[in-house]
Amino acid sequence: MARTALVTGGTRGIGAAISIALRDAGYSVAANYAGNEDAAARFAGETGIAVFKWSVADYEACAAGIRAVEADLGPIDVLVNNAGITRDGMFHRITPDQWRAVIDTNLCGVFNMTHPVWPGMRDRGFGRVINISSINGQKGQVGQVNYAASKSGELGFTKALSLEGARAGITVNAIAPGYIATDMVMAVPEKVRDGIIAQIPVGRLGEASEIARCVLFLASDEAGFITGATLAANGGQYLS
Ligand code: NDP
Repeated sequence: MARTALVTGGTRGIGAAISIALRDAGYSVAANYAGNEDAAARFAGETGIAVFKWSVADYEACAAGIRAVEADLGPIDVLVNNAGITRDGMFHRITPDQWRAVIDTNLCGVFNMTHPVWPGMRDRGFGRVINISSINGQKGQVGQVNYAASKSGELGFTKALSLEGARAGITVNAIAPGYIATDMVMAVPEKVRDGIIAQIPVGRLGEASEIARCVLFLASDEAGFITGATLAANGGQYLS
């Protein structure tokens, strides 16, 4: 029987590429999104992938959303925690709201989503949790104290939880993408983007499909010996 995968923020950008790659590999896929109805409806229409709206920042909404997905598609075998936002600003200027929005979505979101699916994965003796972190969680970035803290936090979460899942057949891994051509990066002014590209040894932005292929590998049975790892996909920009 096909395995079921749930991708948060799975209707746009990297998440959309992950949802499509998993579907094409034979998974039953659910894509969550937060509020951009147009993009989600278009994505569902074009791909036939089931979309579900809730905010990963809200624990109760996550638990209810997961129940709805499992009622439609069956128990979740693969959880991809991809939803993420930026609220950039120099530290002396960012507001507590900018701090909280990013931590609540990017880091608390990973807890809010993983906690409700974890008991089922333990009971069934199989699970894959894949957290989409960031190069900037590994190396830090000016103007992104909130974002870097959230993405670095995901790496600690990944390592600690991997130890708890290991004997239960559950792997927990992170992917740390470098700069990928999505709305998030295309929103950066062109001059700044050119400066970013100049720092990438392969000389280009990454493609969302390149991150999706990393997810496919970590989700597979063949990756069962890999847990607690961070897979860097950054064109050589940061070597950890
Ligand atoms: P996009 O901005 O293109 O898409 C973000 C997705 O997340 C959308 O589907 C959005 O839904 C969803 N989302 C945002 N907030 C919430 C929320 N509270 N609850 C549920 N869904 C939410 O992002 P990217 O594709 O660029 O990034 C995806 C992930 O990859 C993020 O975690 C990001 O930090 C990480 N990353 C991205 C990099 C890049 O270069 N692009 C580099 C390194 C890491 P909606 O459409 O409804 O708004």
